Amino acid sequence: MRLKNLEINGFKSFSQKTNLDFSNPIVCIVGPNGSGKSNVVEAFRFVLGEQSMKSMRGKLGLDLIFKGSKHLSRSSHASVFIYFNNSDKIFKLTNDGGENVNLNYDTINIGREVYADGLNKYILNGGEVRLKDIHNLLASVSIGSSGHHIISQGEADRILNANGRERKEMIEDALGLKIYQYKIKEAERKLERTDNNMKEVVLLRRENAPHLNFLKKQMEKFEKAKEMQAELASLYKEYLKNESVYLELERNNLAKEKTSVAKEIKSIDQHIASIEDGTSQKENEKIEELRNSERKSNEIRATKGEIGRKLGRIEGMIEVEERQAEEKAEVIALSPEEVKTIIGDINVAVDEALNKNNTTDIKPILLRIKDILNKFHKRSENQQKLGYEVEINNLKNTRDTVLTEIKKIEAEENKIAEKIESLRKEIQEIIQTLRDKEKDKFSFKVKHQELSSALELIALKENNLNREIETFENEIKEGEVLIGAEILAYKNFEIKEVSDRHTQEEQRKKIERIKIKLEDTRTSGGTEVMKEFEEMKERDQFLEKELADLSASLKIIQKLIADLKEKIDIEFKEGIKKINVEFQEFFSLMFGGGHGSLSIIEEKKRRRVELDENGEELFDGEEEEIEQGIDINVSLPHKKVKELHALSGGERSLTSIALLFAMSQVNPPPFLVLDETDATLDEANSRKYGDMLEKLSKQSQLVVVTHNRETMSRAGVLYGVTIGSNGASKLLSVKFDEATAIAK
Ligand code: ATP
Repeated sequence: MRLKNLEINGFKSFSQKTNLDFSNPIVCIVGPNGSGKSNVVEAFRFVLGEQSMKSMRGKLGLDLIFKGSKHLSRSSHASVFIYFNNSDKIFKLTNDGGENVNLNYDTINIGREVYADGLNKYILNGGEVRLKDIHNLLASVSIGSSGHHIISQGEADRILNANGRERKEMIEDALGLKIYQYKIKEAERKLERTDNNMKEVVLLRRENAPHLNFLKKQMEKFEKAKEMQAELASLYKEYLKNESVYLELERNNLAKEKTSVAKEIKSIDQHIASIEDGTSQKENEKIEELRNSERKSNEIRATKGEIGRKLGRIEGMIEVEERQAEEKAEVIALSPEEVKTIIGDINVAVDEALNKNNTTDIKPILLRIKDILNKFHKRSENQQKLGYEVEINNLKNTRDTVLTEIKKIEAEENKIAEKIESLRKEIQEIIQTLRDKEKDKFSFKVKHQELSSALELIALKENNLNREIETFENEIKEGEVLIGAEILAYKNFEIKEVSDRHTQEEQRKKIERIKIKLEDTRTSGGTEVMKEFEEMKERDQFLEKELADLSASLKIIQKLIADLKEKIDIEFKEGIKKINVEFQEFFSLMFGGGHGSLSIIEEKKRRRVELDENGEELFDGEEEEIEQGIDINVSLPHKKVKELHALSGGERSLTSIALLFAMSQVNPPPFLVLDETDATLDEANSRKYGDMLEKLSKQSQLVVVTHNRETMSRAGVLYGVTIGSNGASKLLSVKFDEATAIAK
């Protein structure tokens, strides 16, 4: 691997594209003060990713861009490209997996651009990359960011001025251990990421734990609920079957009872209706008949009384007549025919009268009879001579007729009386029958009442039954909510005999208790909870596995870091030993004797300082840590001075150069840039310096900025830098003679 060339464009005083070719191992850059030589050195720093603006003598990115002059306009951006021959494929880049991948280019071209706004771009073979990649890439060829191989003007004794830790860094850089440091850093980042991930996972698990626990408890509840559901289902089967059979039986019994009672009521209604039929009519008829007979009997009695009185009168008259006859002894007799006629007339009249019912009808008849009798009387007066005899006979005849009449009436009276008697008997009988019937009717009505009550009771029972049926149906509905369609399984359940109501009631209570418990544990969306639980569990298991994986990789990384640290430690110690051999040699060469050596020191540090992109110090943690550093021990020949700060400027330069060269000898860098490192050397030492340059140039490309003729004389190629009339640096290849002229 070799440095090929450097392209500077718009960087600092280099307004135009300027190319430095490194076809010779020692290239010297010469020129007057302020011509831009140091700008070339800074271009090296810049392109290699230098972040300290101070070490490039600027404050802002803008300071690195050509500012323009009277004749030239300012540059939009500064760019520097450095080219390496990579035919031996030594350049490596660490990929994301942490492995080093060889870059398959014959030429490696690293570029950096800076814009006015401070934006930086890093380019590797045409593609934009990160600064980190540049660092990584350079570390693989021992060009670390410590810049130990670029010695700026006035920095010849930089390594002496640096503190122990900085020195150690430079040496690590020089020994090519930086790559391991990067790896450690990478691993530590990974470690931190892993640790963070682990913390996150632990936190996640901790966060999830209460919910998972809750879900687990829910699940347990569900399991319990399931058991209860099974128990409930089995209880229900028996209970509902019993209940349904009982209700069916009850319904049938009531229906039967109802029909039978209704039938009875109907028959009783018929009985009652039949009892009421006809009885009163017959009674009324008989009573009417009785009244008529009684009336008739009264009439007869009246007639009989009248006739009786008539008889009395006739008998009185007969008595009178007989007495008169006796007294007068004169008998006026009427011819028998005449008497017969009179009697006949009276008979007719009497019969007529007898046939009349009321007195008004009888009255004219009686008047007629009186008329007949008057006529008879007149005649008798006229016919006194007919005598009393005729009169008496007539009277007797009339009396006989009346007697016959009376007999006839009496017969009639008897007949009527008999009839009345019989009617009264009949009515009595009817009343008796009526009374009997009434009694029957009453008992039927009582029975009817009883049956009606029974019917009411049945209706009541029906109501109760309906309520029970409703309860039964509600129970099924409620049960369905708790155990689903299985509630209907009772239909196919077989029972040997129906349980009594008490047993059923006990069963119902048992069911009720389970229902309450189940209701308590039942929460909506059981399946969702189950799903969520499964998901949460899976997630937790996943996290658990993740945690295990992370802790495994944590161990691997820790082991890797430990291994790397051990490797660095070993290689560093070995490197120091090797450097010390070289250092001693260069030192005694430079000083004509004496001793120079490095030693590893350890000191406790409270903080570690890191630089940010702008070169500002960053505090990284506060913890106390043991830091290794490097001490430089010198003992000059013939002098007792051992402290570095007691050395003269020249001695400091010589010591630094000896150390730098020793380091470069142990692990030669691809190039070394030395800006006036020889400034303080006297002629003799300049020669020694020149010798050393030649020795080093066998392994590394040397870019040397110098005003020193001796040094110039060792160069294969000389570049002269001048400030042109346009105010920009100009580069030209010069011969040794020209160079010595330009350098002045
Ligand atoms: P010496 O021999 O004295 O060390 P030198 O050759 O090393 O000098 P440099 O320090 O490299 O000189 O160059 C400094 C010059 O570069 C100054 O003249 C300065 O004005 C110029 N310069 C620095 N930055 C810019 C810039 N951004 N634009 C233009 N010119 C710049």
